[in-house]
Amino acid sequence: MTLFDRVFGGNDAVYGLTVAAVDNAIAQYGESQAVAFPETAYALPCYYAVTGVKVTTLGEMKAALDVIKSLMTREKRLHDAFMSGVATALCAEFIEALKYMNGATPYEAPCYGHISDAFVRNLGVPLVTGDIPGVAVILGSAPSADEAVELVKSYQTQGMLVTLVGGVIDQLVEKNYKTGDNVRVVPLGKDVTSVIHVVSVALRAALIFGNITPGDAGNLMKYTMERVPAFVNAFKPLDDVIVACGAGAIALGFPVISNETENMFRVPKSLIQQLDVSKWNATSLEARDIKIKITKIDIPVSFASAFEGEIIRRGDMQVEVDGSRVDCFELVQTKEAAEVEDHKIEVVGPEIDEIPVGSKISLSYTVEVAGKAMQPDFESVMERKIHSWLNCIEGVMHTGQRDMIRIRISKADFEAGFKFRHIGEVLYAKIKSEFEAVVDKCQVRIIVDPEQNAKLRAAANEVFDKRDARLASMTDESVDTYYTCIMCQAFSPSHVCIVTPERLGLCGAVSWLDAKATKELDPAGPCQPIKKEGCLDEKLGRFETVDEAVQKYSHGALEHVTLYSLFQDPMTSCGCFECICGVEPVSMGVVITCREHAGMTPLGMSFSEMASMTGGGVQTPGFMGHGKHFIASHKFIAAEGGPGRIVWMPKMLKDQMRERLDKTALEMYGVENFTDMIADETICTEDPEQLLNYLSEVGHPVLGMEPFEM
Ligand code: SF4
Ligand code: ZN
Repeated sequence: MTLFDRVFGGNDAVYGLTVAAVDNAIAQYGESQAVAFPETAYALPCYYAVTGVKVTTLGEMKAALDVIKSLMTREKRLHDAFMSGVATALCAEFIEALKYMNGATPYEAPCYGHISDAFVRNLGVPLVTGDIPGVAVILGSAPSADEAVELVKSYQTQGMLVTLVGGVIDQLVEKNYKTGDNVRVVPLGKDVTSVIHVVSVALRAALIFGNITPGDAGNLMKYTMERVPAFVNAFKPLDDVIVACGAGAIALGFPVISNETENMFRVPKSLIQQLDVSKWNATSLEARDIKIKITKIDIPVSFASAFEGEIIRRGDMQVEVDGSRVDCFELVQTKEAAEVEDHKIEVVGPEIDEIPVGSKISLSYTVEVAGKAMQPDFESVMERKIHSWLNCIEGVMHTGQRDMIRIRISKADFEAGFKFRHIGEVLYAKIKSEFEAVVDKCQVRIIVDPEQNAKLRAAANEVFDKRDARLASMTDESVDTYYTCIMCQAFSPSHVCIVTPERLGLCGAVSWLDAKATKELDPAGPCQPIKKEGCLDEKLGRFETVDEAVQKYSHGALEHVTLYSLFQDPMTSCGCFECICGVEPVSMGVVITCREHAGMTPLGMSFSEMASMTGGGVQTPGFMGHGKHFIASHKFIAAEGGPGRIVWMPKMLKDQMRERLDKTALEMYGVENFTDMIADETICTEDPEQLLNYLSEVGHPVLGMEPFEM
């Protein structure tokens, strides 16, 4: 039997099953029965991405089956095989969608099933920075549970996102292996059709970040091939259905590596036979051309970004550094070269093995750096990264910053020989690798002594206060340079963020200081300076030099961008924004919602739906993605009246922004407790009339503003 026969056979089998399942469902519920996956604005995302048509009912699904059938040509050409693979994937999506009918929750822990739009958007930044270098799709059962663990762990320690389908899930459960999106190991489901949930992530990435027009299948597949670094590892035995799914994967540009021996055909670079499972990691990376950046760190446990979200429970912890009860802090300071001895790591006080298990201790670490190109402004940039660096240590959890840190070191790490000294090793290695352009020498002093830390904490707080004063004095007027950030062009080829002191990048991860440091660290990199010259309109924030930069870095896709307007040439969005705001026409205000809020807004749209209005580097007047901290800036949609336009935000976002937003509103409008005047989901969700009543009740400043000039 040829490979073509197997693909066509698998495709026919799945198609037959799908037709039967749809007919059955129609017989039971009728054609008007709704079908949808939860938390996505791309109704049946794969079918929508490939054909441009949204399927929302069983009747539409039935009609769509004819379209799928038309892809299933049988002339035994490579193209037919690929399209039959795609058709198989679309059938799998329908079968999976049927599981979600009537609000059912078909998947239970540890399996995820369908993945939300917010999850896809969260992947944006780590994928562009290379923090997540690739996506592994592992299918079937490994020869043994130990080999399953080994393979998964090999990818996890490289920071990859690992998705699992089939028997491998039970193998990890059997070995008590921790899974979950917080450790980047995501079991999708045990049926082979659940593989569609990762395909759906890849295709939505193309729609969200790449601005691919739904239905433009050619560019869709070009996008996934060029920009989504995914690959498939399929354990034998491969049945025809898996082979057909594999053809779909290859059509999207994802190579398939397998240990199958029966009827196995090799397609160079795409379908690769590798009998030795221990070589799959290397083979896959080579096939997909994924390069892993390794920083050698001398510690007894793993270090990888996949462990960043790991949680250490109380019962699993050896000791806890607890800044809420005792004096603790973390600090980066610039020193003269003569004062720093490179790679000196000092622990003052007892080491971890001299401390009783379960203790809450006072601990501080001060990182001292020296370098000719070092600037004190970079201290806070480095310091904010400590959180992520320490979390990357397997078995260590870090929260908070400055003098409000909490660190848990697990018993497992203690048993592996992890010492406080190793915190110093991690800080040293990361500072020297990520900031090598500005740091020549670095030393770390760790102090485990409550009395010394009490004194040192007071001194550290003086440093923090000075930094805050400097940050507060930094306005868009007080500097002469803004920066571009084009990091997201890896996914969103024409998107450009303009980063100013008061307007951080829309992902929330790049402040003006970060951009300035990035320029210093990587002179030809994504953050390029823009001289603030040629102001054409102060209120809109329109500058000749900004327009020039946007034209240049969007490769001509954009001509004009303003810094402060929602309607006049607003800044574009790549897709990974923390928040999105949109016009609320009844109150003439704006509604803001954020990725963490899954519920509705008074626009009748959820975050996913609002987010789908913009993205891919295009301008959509009236909708704009932005970072959280921009909300409390005097410059937030200043051209339309400023943050006083905000009429609705999720409660959690209000709570996060309250202090600064209240201060800004008091300065701008003389209004006290402005945040309380903003409605949230506890006040109203979908009804604009209810919203308006609330705004009148509290005397919201928007009611005194001019209508928008749209
Ligand atoms: Fe992407 Fe903008 Fe963030 Fe840069 S600042 S990483 S371009 S969202
Ligand atoms: Zn982005």
